[in-house]
Amino acid sequence: MSIARQTLLRLSKSRWLAERVMTRPFARRAVKRFMPGEELEDALAASATLATDRLGTVLTKLGENLTAESEADKVRDHYLEVFDQITARGLDSHVSVKPTQLGLDFSQSKCVEHLETLARTAEAQGIYFWLDMEDSSYVDRTIALYRKLRGKHEKIGLALQAYLRRTPQDLAALLPIRPTVRLVKGAYAEPAHVAFPAKRDTDFAYYELASQLLQAAAGRGAFPIFGTHDMTLVNRIVAKAKDSGVAQGGFEIHMLYGIRMGEQKALVAAGQTVKTLISYGSSWFPWYMRRLAERPANVWFVAKSMIR
Ligand SMILES: Cc1cc2nc3c(=O)[nH]c(=O)nc-3n(C[C@H](O)[C@H](O)[C@H](O)COP(=O)(O)OP(=O)(O)OC[C@H]3O[C@@H](n4cnc5c(N)ncnc54)[C@H](O)[C@@H]3O)c2cc1C
Repeated sequence: MSIARQTLLRLSKSRWLAERVMTRPFARRAVKRFMPGEELEDALAASATLATDRLGTVLTKLGENLTAESEADKVRDHYLEVFDQITARGLDSHVSVKPTQLGLDFSQSKCVEHLETLARTAEAQGIYFWLDMEDSSYVDRTIALYRKLRGKHEKIGLALQAYLRRTPQDLAALLPIRPTVRLVKGAYAEPAHVAFPAKRDTDFAYYELASQLLQAAAGRGAFPIFGTHDMTLVNRIVAKAKDSGVAQGGFEIHMLYGIRMGEQKALVAAGQTVKTLISYGSSWFPWYMRRLAERPANVWFVAKSMIR
C-alpha cells in the first residue's frame, strides 16, 4: 500500500482533523465532487436526474461508529423515511447501510432488531437492502447479520472485499444460501496478514471471485453486483458473463457518484444494468478521506479548491 494511501486512511480516523476540516468552505466545495448534497432531498433529486440516463441508484446516509446507542433509533427511522420516498417517487433505488450505523458497536441484538425492521419494510416495498462491509474487525459479525436476514428475506445484499485473504472461504460458505453479493476491492487500512498489500494481488483476487460469482449466477445461484471503477476488470467481467451464459440482468455494475460518470452512461448504452451509489449526510469526513485514499491524485483537486 502506498505511503499516501496509508497516511490518508490513518487521517480518516482523526476526529481532531474532522472537526477542523468539515466547516471549511474549500473542503465543502471539494466534497461536492463526490456527493450531490448533504440532505436526503439532494440524493433523491440526483436519483431522478440519473434516471433520465437509465442509471439506477443506491442511497446511503453517511455516518458510522455512533457515539450513543440511541442514535441508532434515529438512523433506523431515517431509512424508513428513505424507503417511503423511493416508493412515492417511483425511483429505481436500493438502500445500503453500515451495521455500525445501526448500533453494532453497542448491541448486536438491538442492531439485528433495527436491521430486521428495515429489511422487512424494504421487502414490502420491493426495494433491495444492502449491508456495506466495514473494516476487517466487523467481517464475522456482518456475515452473521447477513445470514440472519437472508434466511427471511430475498432482496438482501452483502458487500465482500476482494483484498481480504479470507474472502474466497467466505464466498464459498455463502454460495449455498444463494447470496446477493456486491464485490468491491476494499477501502480500509488493513495489516498485510489480513489483506493483500499489493494492488495487483487484489485485482487478481477480484477477477477470481468475480468468475466464481458469475458461474453461480449462470445457474441462478447468486446475484452478483460488481462495485468497481476499474474498467479493465469491468470489460473482462462483461465478457466472462457472456461466455458463462449469465442471463440478461443476471448481474449489475455499481459505481460511486462523481466517478467515471461517462463510463457509467456508456455501459448503460451498451445494455448493462448500472447503478450509482449516492452518499449524503453531514458526517462525510472519514468517507471522503477513503475516496482520497483510493486515488491520492484527488488531493490536488482539494488543493485547487483551497487556492480558489
Ligand atoms: C458501489 C460501491 C460500493 C462500495 N462499497 C464498499 C463497501 O461496502 N466496503 C468497502 O470496503 N468498500 C466499498 N467500496 C469501495 C471499494 O472498496 C474501493 O475502495 C473503490 O471502489 C476503489 O476501487 P476500484 O474498484 O474502483 O478500483 P481502483 O483500481 O482503485 O480504481 C480504478 C480506477 O477508478 C478510478 N477511481 C477509483 N477510485 C476513485 C476515486 N476515489 N476518485 C477518482 N477516481 C477513482 C481511477 O481512475 C482508478 O484508476 C465500494 C465501491 C463502490 C463502487
